[in-house]
Amino acid sequence: MTNHELVGRALELLKQGLVPFVERELKNKHGQAWFEHTLSVLSESQARQFGTADKPRWDVATALGVVWNEWDVVFRASLGQAERTHIRELRDARNRWAHQEPFSNDHAYRTIDSTARLLTAISAPEASDARKMKTNLQRPRFVEQTAQSATRSSKPTKGTAATSFELKIGWSAWLGVAALYVISFRALAHLDGGERVLLALTGPVIILASVLAHELGHAFTMTIAGMKVQKIVLEIWGGYTQGAKGENPFKLPTGKYFWTFFAGPGTNFLIAFIAFLVQRKAAPGSTPQVVSEVVVGLNLYLGALNLIPVFPLDGGHVLRGILMAMTGRRVLATLISASLSIALGAVGLIYSYDKLTTDGISALRWGLVGLFSVVVLFASLQALKNIFDRSADR
Ligand SMILES: [Zn+2]
Repeated sequence: MTNHELVGRALELLKQGLVPFVERELKNKHGQAWFEHTLSVLSESQARQFGTADKPRWDVATALGVVWNEWDVVFRASLGQAERTHIRELRDARNRWAHQEPFSNDHAYRTIDSTARLLTAISAPEASDARKMKTNLQRPRFVEQTAQSATRSSKPTKGTAATSFELKIGWSAWLGVAALYVISFRALAHLDGGERVLLALTGPVIILASVLAHELGHAFTMTIAGMKVQKIVLEIWGGYTQGAKGENPFKLPTGKYFWTFFAGPGTNFLIAFIAFLVQRKAAPGSTPQVVSEVVVGLNLYLGALNLIPVFPLDGGHVLRGILMAMTGRRVLATLISASLSIALGAVGLIYSYDKLTTDGISALRWGLVGLFSVVVLFASLQALKNIFDRSADR
């Protein structure tokens, strides 16, 4: 097979994988108006051959062109800078291919490589075929070196980043686990030896696992929404899921935005429900029954706590998502949810300041509430800033 034929096969795979993604994203963004809108960004000759709304006639050039032209409006939310580079390279390669220009081994390899990477980034099933094509090719040494340095200089997180990410448990989280062990061991003094140790030991593990499950819920839905997840971090004050650099879930379309944030608490509720079923089946007083009861309580608590409708908690985003769906207006939805968040933060701050005069454990509790209220106020302002700040989705 000639290099020209190889590139042709890669472009065919690219078309199969890319078109459903492009059409889906366009529909997400523009709804019914997607076809009219797409016509308006195509070149005249492309628009003439684009078919009808019921039967659009995509080819690889149209799909690549639409992603390129609609980058800011539609695709920036789900693709990163590395994908933009692939799109540019592939448009160029497609033009060369259509004009019957020759491809060097190096250029053919790079085209197939970019095809595989782009298809992987959008989770297209054709990605594995493209990767196979790549491994079947005799890989010249010098290409390997240029490919490596290109990857390093453009962005290290791309490629496999769609499905793999780092898990980091901070030292403060371990400190929290140790403290919890001591606290629960003391609090469980009324139980007999075996059960006391078991519960004291499992409690912190269950908390850590439940918080992790919560974050995995976020990470999973973020990946489905087309975002790259970089890492999950657990610290003593909770956990967070961080998208790759330049990814801002705030810019996701309404449905994806809602589910991305609801997935955390939703996972906790799901676990609570399953543990509840176990608890009902298990013999009263048995270890599975006692442990699953703890799992139910903890996950209900975690889910409910995170749904308090303030930023930066999931609840603030979930409320904003609901308002976006109800009003169809992002700015209005952000204004309402951030205002409510600011109001609740202010109340929390004033109330906790008032209560801080009490002593002992209550003072500590109200101190934490006050501190959290300050965090809420900052995060609410950040949410407001997000609507005006175009650079936030750089
Ligand atoms: Zn969360």
